Amino acid sequence: MSSDEARRLYQSLILEHGRAPHNYHKLEDATHTLEGNNPLCGDRYVLQLRIQDDHIEDAAFEGHGCAISMASASMMTDLIKSLSCEQAQTLFAQFQRITQGEPVLSESLPEELKAFSGLAEYPARIKCANLIWYTLQATLTQQNEPVSTE
Ligand code: ZN
Repeated sequence: MSSDEARRLYQSLILEHGRAPHNYHKLEDATHTLEGNNPLCGDRYVLQLRIQDDHIEDAAFEGHGCAISMASASMMTDLIKSLSCEQAQTLFAQFQRITQGEPVLSESLPEELKAFSGLAEYPARIKCANLIWYTLQATLTQQNEPVSTE
């Protein structure tokens, strides 16, 4: 696959998740609820998790924002369900590297997250993609203040 083809594939993946996000609902039996804002773009989400014995049993979100922030929240909530809290934090660290355009060991990386590797060229968009991940990280490290990218 050429890098142009890869880029098109990834753009369509982001559009698809942005239009029809997965896990977009209220989690009735959530153990953790935290809000995240990206005032720069107007992205605003509430992330809900059900954590039991250091495992993320379920994840969902609600809110609004641009296609990139929506797609990122959709994919992240898909990926972290059934992970341990420690594994989710590792994924968070990998995602930071991806959006900064740094190399990541590809065999340990979920394919769909590579969709965001082109964002390093668009610094203003990096906050959009990272918002829901920052919110996850804040939840896992027991912060109770709403997250802001500012
Ligand atoms: Zn945005």
